[in-house]
Amino acid sequence: MLACPECDLLLARREIGPGERARCSRCGHLLFSPRPEAAAKIVALSLTVAILMGGAMFFPFLSVATGGVSHESSIFGTALAYSEGFLAPLSVAVMLLIVLLPVARVLALIFALGPLAAGRAPFAQARRAFRLAGRIRPWAMAEVFLIGTVVAIVKIGGLASVGLGPAFWAFALLVVAAAAMDSLTNDWTIWDALDPTSPL
Ligand SMILES: [Zn+2]
Repeated sequence: MLACPECDLLLARREIGPGERARCSRCGHLLFSPRPEAAAKIVALSLTVAILMGGAMFFPFLSVATGGVSHESSIFGTALAYSEGFLAPLSVAVMLLIVLLPVARVLALIFALGPLAAGRAPFAQARRAFRLAGRIRPWAMAEVFLIGTVVAIVKIGGLASVGLGPAFWAFALLVVAAAAMDSLTNDWTIWDALDPTSPL
C-alpha cells in the first residue's frame, strides 16, 4: 500500500512498466513514473552541483562599488566576516545551510546511486545514504540563499553599483541542477532499485 502525498488516499501498489505513469485515482497526483536512466542522471546532476558549489564558494560572488570604492566578496569570505563576536552562530548557520548540507546531500546521493548508475549492485549502506539525503533535503537551502541575494541586490542597486561575479552564476546554475535532481529523485522508484531483493 502507499498513500498519495497530496490527498492521503490509500492506494494498492501495482507494478508498472517502463514509460507508464502511476497517478492517484482521486486527485491525479503523479505517484511515480519509472525512468531507467534516473540513477545515472541524478549522479551526473549531483556531480554538477558539487563542482559548481566548489566554484561558487571561492570565486567572487558580488562586487559592490560606490563613490570610487569597490569591494568584492566570495561566499566563503562573507561567512567568515561574521565568524567573530555574537554573530558567529550566523556564520556557522550560513555555511551549514548554504554549503555543507547541499554538498552532504549530493555526496550521499552519489554514494547511494553511483553503483546503480554504473550498472552494478548498490553498496551495503546505499539505502541508509539515500534516506539521509532525503532527510537533509528540507535543510539544504541553496535556493533560499539565491532568492535572498536577488532581493538584496535589488535593494542595494539604488545605492551602489552591484556587479555579479562568476560565483553568482555558478550558484544560479547549481540551484537549477538541484531542482532538476529533485524532480528525478522519485523515491519509490529509487527505493525499488536499491532493494537488494529486486532485480536490477
Ligand atoms: Zn491523491
